[in-house]
Amino acid sequence: MCGSCNVRIDDVWLRLRTNQVYRTPDHERGVTFLLSEVNEASIEILPQELVINRVCFSDVVHYLRYYQHYDTNPCTINSNDDPNLSGDLCLTARVRNHNERRCINYILPILQNHGLAGIDCTEPNTTWLVSRGA
Ligand SMILES: [Zn+2]
Repeated sequence: MCGSCNVRIDDVWLRLRTNQVYRTPDHERGVTFLLSEVNEASIEILPQELVINRVCFSDVVHYLRYYQHYDTNPCTINSNDDPNLSGDLCLTARVRNHNERRCINYILPILQNHGLAGIDCTEPNTTWLVSRGA
């Protein structure tokens, strides 16, 4: 994680509000969730009752940048609660979230809604970073 990834998340964080509703990727299996709490360091979502640390959002942006996952090179999301069945992006997202459950599927729709990421909701679900332009 680095300063420029943090700055991009700062922009997102300013737009987060309690009771905002998002939907997890996948046309068929997607579920809705809402932000029940937003503070400087984390959000909490319902009905999943999951707290997601802000640093995880920066880690996701950093991973996508590092591996240059832009629209011509999307990244398979491959999320699973079981770390042994999780892809690298899912693992990266949860490392600093106690690693107990997946959180990438909640992070990505928030990044998408605020213009940082794209998501293809058909199987296999993929994501990419929206390039910032010049
Ligand atoms: Zn970075």
